[in-house]
Amino acid sequence: EDPIPVLQAEGLTKRYGRRVALSEVDLRVPAGRVVGLVGPNGAGKTTLLNLACGLLEPTSGSLRVLGSRPAASAAHLARVGFVAQNTPVYPSFSVADHLRLGARLNPCWDQDLAERRISRVGLNPGQKAGRLSGGQRAQLALTIAAAKRPELLIFDEPAAALDPLAREGFLVNLMEFVADLGASAVLSSHLLGDIEQICDYLIVLCEARVQIAGEVEELLAGHRRLVARREEL
Ligand code: ATP
Repeated sequence: EDPIPVLQAEGLTKRYGRRVALSEVDLRVPAGRVVGLVGPNGAGKTTLLNLACGLLEPTSGSLRVLGSRPAASAAHLARVGFVAQNTPVYPSFSVADHLRLGARLNPCWDQDLAERRISRVGLNPGQKAGRLSGGQRAQLALTIAAAKRPELLIFDEPAAALDPLAREGFLVNLMEFVADLGASAVLSSHLLGDIEQICDYLIVLCEARVQIAGEVEELLAGHRRLVARREEL
């Protein structure tokens, strides 16, 4: 039998008042994938990720994440690590204070992993979080999400705070880290170029609908076939 999919949506619809953010979305993403979610502003990416974390409820249809219905419950949040677009930090708390807080809130907290990651990316444990750059803050948020030892990590535009030169290195490093954790991952971006290198499953959202979804290898093979056929003509 198939392993439990990372994401499974059927007729998933989300409205904010009269605005439709997701319309009748069907998805089935196999286990163990690094999933890239791309689309222009307002396509519905953040809405889909917030639904997956249990921060929002669908208007209609169904969504399962790792086989369960997402809920803002301790049990769901222990399995799913979420790094939001502008992750809030407590400005007057130090980096080390954030790790202590994480340890108190999460039963499976891996302090060793958190400390190694902090030192690897050059964060000073005594630094007040309010004084971190956008990129350093993104690293702190990632560390906190990963130290919970989740089965799935969800990132909403993880490279948004970084300059174009820093983006690629950051994302490759991020994906190596996720692979070491043995977790699945979903990350969103405006830019296909940012994530095509690191994802093995791609979802393209546009105006609340899924335009393309599939294994990157299959999508590329399909594209190559199309190009070859055109050259034959
Ligand atoms: P971006 O790349 O700009 O972050 P996105 O793909 O993440 O966009 P969403 O944030 O999911 O898109 O928004 C989808 C649609 O829903 C947009 O039209 C947006 O204006 C609308 N929307 C999002 N959040 C709300 C809200 N809380 N109330 C009303 N409308 C909202």
